Amino acid sequence: MIFKICRKEELPKLFDSLSANHIVGPVRKGTDKEGKPIIAFDIANDFNELELAYPSTKFSPKKFFLPYRETLSSFDMEESDWQEHIDFNIYKPHVFFGMHACDINALNKLDKVLLESVYPSPYYGSKRSNMCIIGMDCEPQPFCFCRSMGTDTALHGFDMFLTALGERYFVEILSATAFNWLKNLNTRDPTEDDHIEYMAAVAKRNEKFTARVDTTDLTKILDMEFQADVWKKWGEKCLSCGACANVCPTCYCYGVEEHVDLDLQGASKIKHLHSCNLIDFAEVAGGHNFRPQSHVRLKYRYYHKHRGFVEAFEESLCVGCGRCGEACLADINVPEVIASVRGEGG
Ligand code: SF4
Ligand code: SF4
Repeated sequence: MIFKICRKEELPKLFDSLSANHIVGPVRKGTDKEGKPIIAFDIANDFNELELAYPSTKFSPKKFFLPYRETLSSFDMEESDWQEHIDFNIYKPHVFFGMHACDINALNKLDKVLLESVYPSPYYGSKRSNMCIIGMDCEPQPFCFCRSMGTDTALHGFDMFLTALGERYFVEILSATAFNWLKNLNTRDPTEDDHIEYMAAVAKRNEKFTARVDTTDLTKILDMEFQADVWKKWGEKCLSCGACANVCPTCYCYGVEEHVDLDLQGASKIKHLHSCNLIDFAEVAGGHNFRPQSHVRLKYRYYHKHRGFVEAFEESLCVGCGRCGEACLADINVPEVIASVRGEGG
């Protein structure tokens, strides 16, 4: 890794030099009912649209590499045979400006399933290979427990990472692409004082984490508590609305629909993201539902994140961003659920 220092006023130059690509970043979308700004990842056409000091976004950036709805293939009847057309739906490289460590780590986890497993997804892969990431440090929010999940810092999965030190950035460079970007900027090598200031900034940030999840022996505890009544307690509260999976940066479960035109001259295969808490998630042909009860669906969501994924990849599928708890109208959040399964709390 290479380290550099650059002044904050250099960043618009970087934005402009990359603007032949789609630039995606935190953009203001309005205000919530308390008058606080709503920030979402979207295409930014001007550097001034970016809200780089954003606290968090309600939705993760996943719609750009894991769209909620995507045409996998379409078919046309040509002469007397079906012709298949496949489009990976990527038309321009994307540069993500200002992604936080939790979202970078979420992508690293998705890569394990969607790029490196037995059945890689060419749709996801094409988008991943056409994106660059400029990461940005963040201010821990009261609902962030990424430090408990080991995802509060990103060690890989980005091209460049910026940590604000007053009027300058401490820049970490991981890729040759990012190194080439620096040719357009005034930078210098960090001094010993910069290193000391960087470490002080990291230590100060670490003190700000308040939400925690105890992951000690969690897979074993989940195995032991599989039949525990505590799941019923949370299941009774759950509205089965699916909002948690919608906002989650690592939820990737999906369904596929096939549509045939009424005139039988065309057809399409469409993928849509699903949520394991929705009532029809485990419904199969014939109408049988393997998980008709909300507490069972909720339980399996937690077991996928904190048990099954750990067994397969030796890490949790949760990055501790806290978005699911913030989105949940029933006030169900990971720290409280895990604490109750461990027999802690009310
Ligand atoms: S957001 Fe809350 S209420 Fe909705 S499905 Fe998820 S846990 Fe249940
Ligand atoms: S489960 Fe919740 S806290 Fe964990 S990554 Fe998904 S949205 Fe974030």
